[in-house]
Amino acid sequence: MRKHIVAGNWKMNKSFEEADELIDELMSKLEEVSLPRDEQVIICPPFPFLEMASDYANDSYFMVGAQNVADHESGAYTGEVSARMLASCEIDYCIVGHSERRAYYGETDQTVAAKVDLLLANGLKPIVCVGEVLEEREAGRQFDVVKTQVEGGLFHLDAEQIKNIVIAYEPVWAIGTGKTATPEQAQEMHAHIRSLLANRWGKEVADEISILYGGSCKPSNAKELFACPDIDGGLIGGASLKADDFMGIITAF
Ligand code: PEP
Repeated sequence: MRKHIVAGNWKMNKSFEEADELIDELMSKLEEVSLPRDEQVIICPPFPFLEMASDYANDSYFMVGAQNVADHESGAYTGEVSARMLASCEIDYCIVGHSERRAYYGETDQTVAAKVDLLLANGLKPIVCVGEVLEEREAGRQFDVVKTQVEGGLFHLDAEQIKNIVIAYEPVWAIGTGKTATPEQAQEMHAHIRSLLANRWGKEVADEISILYGGSCKPSNAKELFACPDIDGGLIGGASLKADDFMGIITAF
């Protein structure tokens, strides 16, 4: 069966010392609980802290993900970080197509597809974000928008490749706004995504793919969201920056 995953997206927050403290605190809290074997915790700090996080992760309470990767293999792309570099630093996951990257850095479904291919080729697991903006939901277009994103970013993959993908449904109107999708709204979209996967690769494959919810998820609402049949965990922004809040979500299953 598919994994339950709670992934923390730190975005552009924390200094080296603060990052070290947070990971240290998280480690001691994780040592105190025994998580179900099918649950995976992932932290996605900024690039400069990945190596430190990955050193902690060797003790194996969590895995480490990057927040972005270049859409080219290597070469003259100043400031970019390649999938091969991430693999060589033993990074396990990478967020792709986050709405902030789509909105501020022009990331398209085509870019997402290119990054997904490079990550898979280098043995990393992409966490691919999809989700509609408020106007699209208000116009009743959310299912079509997400369908286009899933098709454009992922439909070129074969059945073996898609099994290494994690999808995060993040309604953009819920990210960092304190406004969470209701469990009904989230479940409905997750079921829609799973049916898209089933139509493309078959039900058995679709049932193996973890689909996370993201958007103002916190300890107080994680339990009812995670209780939905097609919600396999969360991609957590703000609440992953405090060990207690993140733990409250991790232990919500
Ligand atoms: C995110 O940016 O991936 C996210 C879910 O943020 P927040 O939890 O802060 O809404």
